[in-house]
Amino acid sequence: MDALKIVKLGNTETLNFAGEEIRRYLRKIDPEKMVTVESSSSFNPGEEDSIYLGTIDRFGLETPNVRDPRFDDGIHIEVQSGKGIIGGTNERSVLLGVYRFLRELGCRWIRPGDDGEIVPQQSLSSIDVKLIEKASYRHRGICIEGAVSYENVRDIIDWAPKVGFNSYFIQFREGYTFFERWYSHINNPFKEKEPFSVEKAREFVRNLGGEIKKRGLIYHAVGHGWTCEPFGIPGLGWDLYEGEVPEDYIKYTAEINGKRGLWEGIPLNTNLCYSNPEVRNIVTDSIVEYLETHPEIDILHFWLADGTNNQCECEECRKVLPSDFYVMMLNELDKKLSLKGIDTKIVFLLYVDLLWPPEKERIENPERFIMMFAPITRSYSDTFKPVDTSVKIPEYRRNRLIFPKNIEENLAFLREWQKIFSGDSFDFDYHLMWAHYADPGYMDIARVIYEDVKNLKEIGLNGLISCQIQRAFFPTGFPMYLMASTLWDDTVSFEELVNDYFTNAYGPDGSLVKDYLTRLSVLFEPPVLRRERPPSSGFTENLARARDVIYEFDPIIRKNLSSSSGSVYKSWLYLDYHKNVAYKLSLILEALFKGEKDSAVKVWEELKGMLQKEEDVLQPVFDLFEFISVFERVLKS
Ligand SMILES: [Zn+2]
Repeated sequence: MDALKIVKLGNTETLNFAGEEIRRYLRKIDPEKMVTVESSSSFNPGEEDSIYLGTIDRFGLETPNVRDPRFDDGIHIEVQSGKGIIGGTNERSVLLGVYRFLRELGCRWIRPGDDGEIVPQQSLSSIDVKLIEKASYRHRGICIEGAVSYENVRDIIDWAPKVGFNSYFIQFREGYTFFERWYSHINNPFKEKEPFSVEKAREFVRNLGGEIKKRGLIYHAVGHGWTCEPFGIPGLGWDLYEGEVPEDYIKYTAEINGKRGLWEGIPLNTNLCYSNPEVRNIVTDSIVEYLETHPEIDILHFWLADGTNNQCECEECRKVLPSDFYVMMLNELDKKLSLKGIDTKIVFLLYVDLLWPPEKERIENPERFIMMFAPITRSYSDTFKPVDTSVKIPEYRRNRLIFPKNIEENLAFLREWQKIFSGDSFDFDYHLMWAHYADPGYMDIARVIYEDVKNLKEIGLNGLISCQIQRAFFPTGFPMYLMASTLWDDTVSFEELVNDYFTNAYGPDGSLVKDYLTRLSVLFEPPVLRRERPPSSGFTENLARARDVIYEFDPIIRKNLSSSSGSVYKSWLYLDYHKNVAYKLSLILEALFKGEKDSAVKVWEELKGMLQKEEDVLQPVFDLFEFISVFERVLKS
């Protein structure tokens, strides 16, 4: 029996994992081959039947050359006739290199989980791969949102580096709200509520942090909560606070309409009286304390309260923009962290009031910080594009702000900040949070993601962290696959990615699925449901046509369900469920458009009931909680 040796230049957790992963997949690809893994302290070039794994310095290589090897990913692969090297600019890159190598051998990961793997069998003796690549963007990540089980998050963390992502972001200290939504099954009366607690969420996050670190992924953490947690009020989610509000917290909160206290009863949405130095101290001390006990975090997010038009109107606060107080706190925090020798990067956020840049304050140590542009109110029916610099930002009017929807206005804010901060930055965006539900074919939102990612360089941002539901793989995982692929290589063509994904996910009929879903995306007119464009004159005909398209495609689904197996079968199975969803959505939209709300609600209740009863089948790929929340908002408005 033929043997192949994987030799790791180092014995760290991430290299060990990379070694195990390549061994596991090579065994699947060529079951005849005996694959072993060992460590070595030195590289022996030309050694027969051996593939070395290590960082590029261990091979004496200088390529690929990156700016910051801790954060920037690059790979150098040279494997010929079963021997050679897989090198990376850091250990995470070595793992990314392993997966990149396996992709060259034909492996694909079309969605998270074992049933999302495509592993072709072939002989390993003749492999010949030479690649030197560096990622087009530094920041390529996914941020937790929606409703999730522990397994959902574990699986997407596992999937992320396989397709080229390098970061994972767990929001809040314990991500409680996202897990609680799943385990309490709030949008599914057919499922019994399971017990869940903050302690359980903390245990989950500890384990998931372990999964992130095992892969060497860049670990982003927290975000909201710094305006309540340090004062003894939990900021677990966006729920009303039921507990006692401590007296000495109230005096620190924002004064709005002459009154201090919780804003609309929600701690997470309550801003503070930032002109009060004591407030700023308590907040920044608490961040320092948190980081002292959480060295595993690479990038910590320090955001102010969520919600809008909720800034303090007291005499001192009204003299200064919220962003000036924010930058004041950033500088204070940086000094405190430096004193303690903590080098964690801090993300600051351009969002709601903070879109308006500071008038006076400036960031003193740009190296500490990463600027995050979060255009949550933007349109997803249009894309980032090279900027129209004639668009100016409106005047700041405290608590009377209207937030920008169109892309030009959003980018005008970013440009103002870029004038005063030239450090690292990325886009924090929401394509797959709500906007994709208006596009049942997922092909329209995929195109928006593609154009946006390609244009990030043009607008001066070094990547994307996608704030999104984790289970955005229904009907397909194409938007996420494309996001990861384009962030890695922004020169790749859309057509190339489409063909690659659909051929692998659906087999020989993949191009038919591509055409089918593309037609659905066109016929549903996604901007209509987003209320960004009025329906076209042929809207009802288009929806009727969508039903014909679904009907005509059904025999193809039937044929493939009986002829396929494994992951490809699973893809067709999901498509089979999806056709019923798309069919009913077309009826709901048509009824809404004709003003027949009662009949829209009736079809919606049928659809909802069907999905609730069948939830287990679609659970890994479809976030029913968020789907129901979005459509009930549409139907109630
Ligand atoms: Zn104030």
